[in-house]
Amino acid sequence: MKARYNYRIYPKQSQLTPLAKAFGSSRVVWNDAWWLYKNAERNKLDRPTKISNLVITQAKKTEERSWLSEVSSVVLQQSLRDLQQAWDNYFSSLKGGRKGKAVGRPKPKKKHSRQAIRFASNAFSVHSQSVYLAKIGHVKVVFSRPLPSQPTSVTVIKDTTGRYFASFVVEIPEQIAYAERYPLGPQTSNSCGIDLGLTHFAILSTGEKIENPRLHKKMLKKIKLANRRLAKAKRDSNRRKKRKLRLAKLHVKVKDARTDFLHKLTTRLVRENQALAVEDLNVAGMVKNRKLSRAISDAGWSKFKTMLEAKCDKYGRDLTIVDRWYPSSQICSCCGKSGGKKELDVRQWQCLFCNTTHDRDLNASINLSRWAGGQSDQYKNERGASVSQAKLAVCGEALTNPIQLTLF
Ligand SMILES: [Zn+2]
Repeated sequence: MKARYNYRIYPKQSQLTPLAKAFGSSRVVWNDAWWLYKNAERNKLDRPTKISNLVITQAKKTEERSWLSEVSSVVLQQSLRDLQQAWDNYFSSLKGGRKGKAVGRPKPKKKHSRQAIRFASNAFSVHSQSVYLAKIGHVKVVFSRPLPSQPTSVTVIKDTTGRYFASFVVEIPEQIAYAERYPLGPQTSNSCGIDLGLTHFAILSTGEKIENPRLHKKMLKKIKLANRRLAKAKRDSNRRKKRKLRLAKLHVKVKDARTDFLHKLTTRLVRENQALAVEDLNVAGMVKNRKLSRAISDAGWSKFKTMLEAKCDKYGRDLTIVDRWYPSSQICSCCGKSGGKKELDVRQWQCLFCNTTHDRDLNASINLSRWAGGQSDQYKNERGASVSQAKLAVCGEALTNPIQLTLF
């Protein structure tokens, strides 16, 4: 299993220029190759073979690209390989050969957005407090946690606020071995259903309500102001640069705080439970609802689910992604009978069959946790098609098969 390990790095003043050159050259090589491919596509020609000869070897001999030779050729070659991979992913996605979300067309790279270069294993080495990069030298790394094994590549990133990061790709040992080596906590047999919402970020079947931090909303005023100010600044002025940085910093702050919140929450949930169930929300579809879109994007549900899946996989916990059409908010968690469809603003309802009063979200999360524990028998007996799907998802084999990840 491959994983990424990210660390903040601090290049010396003298290393900033070589780094900037590497970012620039890598970008130019990518863009030159991109245009060649684009041109071939437009004129219905075959794709140029030996592209690296064209945009690197030959280009170095010309006056306007002679500076390419100042940069490690590994970085330039890697940039081409990454572009190639991006096209391949795009085409196989078009043909339906890839799982998950459709991959977009590769785009030319911009000078003023996030910059990245990748070093293959022959162009870098890891030391106790630094990483050696070809033609750049030793760069200080803050190893916030140890690398589990020798990395196969490293991506050096400069974000829009001028921070530098190193992102190592490492092969991590088999999942079970991993969980044994880095135990997350004591063994547990708890199961937990998670209902994602907007009023609260999540409602657990234990009754706990996790506040929605609504980070973006808090910062929205500041971001709007910064945007207006940026729009008023003259082009190419120093003031514009400053205001652009200010805006980028605000965005980064929101993003970092949200990532931190999601990491802490998912780690806690995975630590405390053996079985987890969460609804398969159609986030992409919901974001199209313009009234809700900002609040939903802000909540970070997709990221939450991705993290939860990855961590359950890593630590051998069972995650059930409950079918989108399972009416978790309609079923009474006491008697298992359906109470019918409810509008979004109905926060509480009473079951007509057993007279229990339910909190909408808590009831839904209890239903979800039943799935995680494989006890949704009552529901199974009463309903049709989606039930058989549901059955597949129930993690009844929790003990015999510790790494079970069920996806629809
Ligand atoms: Zn009932």
